[in-house]
Parts: sequence; C-alpha cells; structure tokens
Amino acid sequence: MALEKVPAAVQGVLQTLQTHGFEAVLVGGCVRDMLLSRPVHDYDIATNALPDEVVRLFDHTRDTGIKHGTVTILSDPICPVEVTTYRSEAGYSDKRHPDTVRFGATLFEDLSRRDFTVNAMAFTPSGRIVDPFGGQNDLLLKCIRAVGDSRERFREDSLRILRAVRFAAQLSFEVESTTRLAMTEASPGLSCVSKERIGQELTKIAKANWWQVIPLLADCKLLASLPDPLSGLQSDFDSLALVPDKSRENWRTLFSNADTQTFWLATWGTWLLFDNAPVHTVKKLFQELAIESRHAKPIGYIACAAKEELFNWPKSRWQESLFSNGQASVQIAARIRDGLILNQLVNYEALCTRYISEQPIWSRKDLAVTADDLIAYGLHGQKIGQAFKLLCQAVLSNKCKNTKTDLVDYLKKV
Ligand code: ATP
Ligand code: MG
Repeated sequence: MALEKVPAAVQGVLQTLQTHGFEAVLVGGCVRDMLLSRPVHDYDIATNALPDEVVRLFDHTRDTGIKHGTVTILSDPICPVEVTTYRSEAGYSDKRHPDTVRFGATLFEDLSRRDFTVNAMAFTPSGRIVDPFGGQNDLLLKCIRAVGDSRERFREDSLRILRAVRFAAQLSFEVESTTRLAMTEASPGLSCVSKERIGQELTKIAKANWWQVIPLLADCKLLASLPDPLSGLQSDFDSLALVPDKSRENWRTLFSNADTQTFWLATWGTWLLFDNAPVHTVKKLFQELAIESRHAKPIGYIACAAKEELFNWPKSRWQESLFSNGQASVQIAARIRDGLILNQLVNYEALCTRYISEQPIWSRKDLAVTADDLIAYGLHGQKIGQAFKLLCQAVLSNKCKNTKTDLVDYLKKV
C-alpha cells in the first residue's frame, strides 16, 4: 500500500496538518479498501487537531458536522476531503447516536469507537498501518468482527447490525460467530433506526452480492425487527433461504453480469416476489425507505410477473407486457424465474427473447398510421388518442395486422 496512490488533494491535507504539528492519518473504509485493492470512493482523514484548528488551516472548508468533529476541506472542489477530530463517544440512550462526543482523544480511542475490526485501522503518511484490533488478519480471514465487546457495540448503535450484513454482502465476507450472535440478540433495536437509514443500507445490500447473505438474514431474523411494512421482508428471505443452494448459485451468473440498474431492479423484484406485493405496496415501501419512486413501477411489475407461470402466457399477454413495461422489466422477470426454479424444462429468458424478436410494436409511434391519417379519416380531439390506444391493443392481441389498410379497416369495423 502506498501513499502515492492516494489523490493529491488528500495527500495535501495530510501534509498541511502534519506541517502544523498535528497528527493526521487515513482511517476507516479507505484503509480497508486499499488493503483489499478495491476502488476507494472516499478518503477519510482523522486528526488530533480540533475542528476550529482544522478550519483555520484551510481556505475553503464546509462545516459538515462540527458537533461530531467533521470538517470538509474543499481546496480541490472535485475531491472534497473529510477531516474528523479523534473522538471518543459515550452513552447511546437512543440506540443509535452517542449522547456525548469527547474530542482530545487518542488515535487508539478513536479506532476503538469504530464498528468492525476491518474498519478500525489507520494508515499514516509514513506508510505505517495502525491496526490495534486485528483488522488485517480479519481481512485475510474474510471476516466481519465487531471491535471489542460485540454485544455492547450493537446495543449502542443498532444500525451497525445492518452495516455488518452490508459489508458481508459487499466484500463477500462471513460474519464471525460471536458477532453474529450479538447481532441476533440486538436485532429488536432495529425498530429505533430511521427508515431512510435502513433504506440506504438495504439499497447497498441490493447492489452487492446479496444472495450470499440470505442464510444470515434468514437465520438471524434481523428483518423481522424492522419497522412495518419492512418486517415483511423477513418472510421473503426465509423463503429465499429454502431455495436449494444449487439454484441460488445460479443467481450469481444470472445477476452479476447485469448492469447495476438491472441488477438492482432484479434484486428488489426477487425479494418482493415472495410477498404478495402489488405495485401500490411496493410504492409505499419505497416511499418510506426514501428510495427513488421511479423504480417502484418496474419493480412492482417484475415482482408480480416473476411469480406467474410465464410459460402459460398467451402470445398476446407477452406482447402487451413488453409494450407496457418495456423489454428490460419483462426480461428480468423471466430471468428471475429461470434463477428460482430448479430442474426446469423451460428456459424463460429464451422464451422472452423469442417474443421480443416477434414484438410487432413497442410504442404507438410504430403503428402504420399517423395522427394525420386519423384526422384525414375524420377523427379529432380525444378521439385520436382513443383510436391509437384501440389500434395498439388490436395489433398486440393479433386482432389486426400493422398495415395502414388493415388498421383503417379495423377502425371502420369497431
Ligand atoms: P463505505 O464508505 O464504503 O460505505 P465505510 O467503511 O467508509 O464504507 P462509512 O459509513 O463511510 O463507511 O464510515 C466511515 C468509517 O466510520 C467506517 O469505516 C467506520 O470506521 C466508522 N463508522 C461509520 N459508521 C459507524 C457506526 N455506525 N458505528 C461505528 N463506526 C462507524
Ligand atoms: Mg466511507
């Protein structure tokens, strides 16, 4: 691991703090990811300088959370750097935030307040790794282990329970057994975590190797403690855990090649598949989790469609589905079915591909008549829109061919 790989803006901040006689080290996720040779998306610096001392040393700063000791340095506008004063914390009466934060702590104390050993390491500008809790060894063991007394750590802050699952999914790690037991015991505390923060963690899990944490989520019954309606996800994961290992192994191939967006939609679709999740429930769920609502419609559709026996769908149903929901959503539903059903005789994705190749129209623009044609035929106002709708339905249900003569004849008939 070398400091030269760290962005110049980050090196600059470390150097400025040091030249002024302060300690400054990289901490947390960036050290973990650098040691794993994973891409680093944000660099956090910890220092013994107090927040107002940090503000005085740099021209452009933003007060990100001075109460908690964090100042953002904006010397390079495209690479903001967060600097946090070493701190220790005490009392967590809301099971989420410390009651008091004390500055003037040592690096060791600062690392002790962090959640997991792999997140509790520092990297000094001279290239030394400070690792008081065996984080490097846990990286080798591929293990998420709480720092210190795991029961205490989850009792202090319940969000750490979901963070453990998230890191297990992102890094393909296992949660160490004592930590896992402590998470299970502390899970009722999840009801104190805001839905927005839960949504952020679930989204990160959904974008990672979530299938690997299915047994964890099923065994520990963590999700049952989430506020309603999220607690319903527990039964989804219990059902997902019953899917044979071999079938679950398929998901890796099915989902890991898809682009992030598709992957994410598929994940949620699969999770919600086991719930009777109509679109409006999905919408409500997403609103509460502060997840973008534009995702709710496709996911609601995917979850419903993947539950059906697609093989029994008549051709017109495929075509209407492709028309109304778009190729990607229907393909994901088919893929999920392929992934969930073992020893299947049907390849749903191939079936879907066949219908895609035979799809007569994807939007009303593909009809062989234009608005001008309909006006010439004597229609006006709202009637034009109604006629387009009728003609699309007729073409999709194979009642009418997509040629101008056939379409006009059809209109005459109806
Ligand atoms: P990433 O940024 O990749 O999601 P990260 O490990 O950097 O992962 P952050 O949420 O950015 O996670 O937090 C930075 C660091 O702060 C963590 O590595 C950890 O040391 C500490 N930390 C964050 N949240 C908590 C928490 N709830 N309890 C204890 N320590 C925490
Ligand atoms: Mg981070």
